[in-house]
Amino acid sequence: MDHFLYRDGQLYAEDVPVAEIAAAVGAPFYLYSTATLVRHFRLFDEALDWGPHLVCYAMKAASNQAILKTLAAEGAGMDVVSGGEYARAKAAGVPGDRIVFSGVGKTGAEIRAALEGGIRQFNVESEPEMRVISEVASAMGVDAPITLRVNPDVDAKTHAKIATGKSENKFGIPIARAREVYAEAARLPGLKVVGIDVHIGSQLTQLEPFEQAYTKVAELTEALRADGHEITRLDLGGGLGIPYARSNEAPPLPTDYGALIQRTVGHLGCEIEIEPGRLIIGNAGLLVSGVIYVKHGEGRDFLILDAAMNDLIRPAMYDAHHEIVPVKEAAPGAELSPYDIVGPVCETGDTFAKGRLMPPVAAGDLVAFRSAGAYGAVMASEYNTRPLVPEVLVHGDQFAVIRPRPTFDDIINRDTIPEWL
Ligand SMILES: *Cc1c(COP(=O)(O)O)cnc(C)c1O
Repeated sequence: MDHFLYRDGQLYAEDVPVAEIAAAVGAPFYLYSTATLVRHFRLFDEALDWGPHLVCYAMKAASNQAILKTLAAEGAGMDVVSGGEYARAKAAGVPGDRIVFSGVGKTGAEIRAALEGGIRQFNVESEPEMRVISEVASAMGVDAPITLRVNPDVDAKTHAKIATGKSENKFGIPIARAREVYAEAARLPGLKVVGIDVHIGSQLTQLEPFEQAYTKVAELTEALRADGHEITRLDLGGGLGIPYARSNEAPPLPTDYGALIQRTVGHLGCEIEIEPGRLIIGNAGLLVSGVIYVKHGEGRDFLILDAAMNDLIRPAMYDAHHEIVPVKEAAPGAELSPYDIVGPVCETGDTFAKGRLMPPVAAGDLVAFRSAGAYGAVMASEYNTRPLVPEVLVHGDQFAVIRPRPTFDDIINRDTIPEWL
């Protein structure tokens, strides 16, 4: 459920007409709903109410400071995957003991910065990385809290580019070798093993792959405890999917996911961490765009938008489907016609949808891409020197620009000219 609904013939974000924001900010822009994202966070938090837990928002999905502050005020932890994200989380006021550090290639400098600023745990992805954490922490005279990310070799049944839990993926330590690597972790100085980590992929629309993975984690927990390790935390990753297309079957709900976690690992008495990103922010965000031209081509019609692949890359990169709806509600019974919906960038890949049935649309109209909050603004670029797309946050009847659109001069002045020119 989200808070983008039609009222009196126009699309609202909570209590603000989207068209009013567009008039103030100019299209294209991302638009987030506070009520929706808080609601999603609370659904996860409540789904784990049966035991000690921390919901660590995977901030790579959308990392604006205002979004992080909104979630931090709800008690969220953060899952970061780079030194930059760690700095963002700290800047938003998230205490180090609520930040977990994931990612396959943490550098020595990133590890040191996190140890200095405070960190709940590193989710270690490989033996070489574990040794570097040990060296950095020992040199600082501290113990780094770690989990090892195990790769359970399960098929997440999602898009190949976002599946991470098969043995051929670059992520984690093969679960079959886990006991050996934990034994090394226990021998190395500067490390404190606190638990196990797993994350099998993104946009999962079934619970079964989670069930397989978490069952393996439960078995591993018992085996590691028998080996003498103290396993007090299980970080079960993120990945629960959202409905992108209206026609899709609804993916599982956080409550069912929470019950599955309780069923598979609840008996172990561990503190549970989860790292949802997409489900918290995905349906809490729209990309609002203006129609520049309606072009009648040979055999097909094009809607040429002012948003492009540089603003929302998911359709080009993951063949993703986004619902695209008019901001002014279509008249009841309006006739639908097929359009190819494209951006102005000079690549055929700059296509959002082909043959999409739309009500009558004219140049100057506004449309909204639904479910654009996750992996939208964070993946935007300035390709074609199109200014980085702004972000706006709505809260009840208020809205605020939370990242302004840079001017052409801002963009140009980021370049520096060498002396010889
Ligand atoms: C990307 C990622 C997540 C979040 O995945 P979602 O599908 O957005 O929930 C969580 N944990 C790790 C380690 C990730 O890489």
